Amino acid sequence: MEKTDSTQDIPRTLADLDRVIHEPARLSIMAVLSVVESADFTVGEDFFVLTEGEQQGTVTLQKLGGSPLTPLSGFVSPPDLADPSWVMLGREPGGYLYVIDMGYHRLRALEPESGAVVRDYRLAEQGVEIRCIYADREKLYVASRDALYVYPMEPILSPTAQPGTAPTIGTSSPVPHDPATLELLPPLVLPVEGAALSDMAYRLPGAPSSYRYGVHEGLDFYWTAAGPVSRDTQVLATAEGQVIRADIDYTAPSAQEMADMVTYTQETHHTPADILDAFRGRQVWIDHGHGVATRYCHLDSVAEGLAVGQHVEQGQVIGHAGNSGTPAAYYDEDSEIHLHLEIRIGDGYLGQFLRPVETKRWLKLALAEAT
Ligand SMILES: [Zn+2]
Repeated sequence: MEKTDSTQDIPRTLADLDRVIHEPARLSIMAVLSVVESADFTVGEDFFVLTEGEQQGTVTLQKLGGSPLTPLSGFVSPPDLADPSWVMLGREPGGYLYVIDMGYHRLRALEPESGAVVRDYRLAEQGVEIRCIYADREKLYVASRDALYVYPMEPILSPTAQPGTAPTIGTSSPVPHDPATLELLPPLVLPVEGAALSDMAYRLPGAPSSYRYGVHEGLDFYWTAAGPVSRDTQVLATAEGQVIRADIDYTAPSAQEMADMVTYTQETHHTPADILDAFRGRQVWIDHGHGVATRYCHLDSVAEGLAVGQHVEQGQVIGHAGNSGTPAAYYDEDSEIHLHLEIRIGDGYLGQFLRPVETKRWLKLALAEAT
């Protein structure tokens, strides 16, 4: 949402939507949701919202209607609707409500009035994941990572059904939102001892980076069990690998250069790669193979002796946290000290093209041994 004087008080997350917000010129309605975060939603005559509850792993499907939107009591979530990732309403009038599971292999069609499961699709072909669907009266279109399948609406698909044929486009480097990518990730440890994976979506990849009108491509660590992250906080390699960048001789942009870069991003709503790199400050990058790399950013220092080409072990100290590259550091030299960690996959980053609830699950899986 564009930040203007009339909208700047609008909270960033649904967690803050305890009250109805009226801003007549821009917003006519806003839902009152007793949820932590929204996973997905779809709109027909009513609103259907997948929400992640306060308890970990509790995802429910709510139907809302009226103005302002309120939960409708008639809707019952199916009992076996564990861990859905996506929800979509069929485009035709009276269309089904489609829910894709977190494994991206199962698609359920629900009667939108009652929530009853009327169809249960499981794709037969191994390795085919459902990344996007479209349904009309006659056909169901299923897009996977590199193919489009077209099914007749009848008969109901079963595990023995053959998928429709579609051209397959080869992909050379891993795609960040492909579920198969999860298998490429080595088990990771947290890059800061005593830290925890943030539950706050705005500290995770995919969040808006509002100061530059961009997207946040990493995870932020501001706290450890012992207190705030400081310049004394050691930064650890999340997995073994080879150092491919170590900014030992780092020169910070001047205050004027930094101000010019911020101005450029705010005026163009675009952050070119060189400016993005400057905003990451002093960095260390580690290559873990299979197209996976990690970047440790805003460092205050690089560990003594660390050099490009060197092999590092998981948990090895690679530097100390800082605030290099953050515009805030130019106003207050002790502000914004944190570690920004990016998990790069191919040309993208973990969290790219994923919804917040999916990003959290993927991070939990990647960090399963650490948390
Ligand atoms: Zn960050």
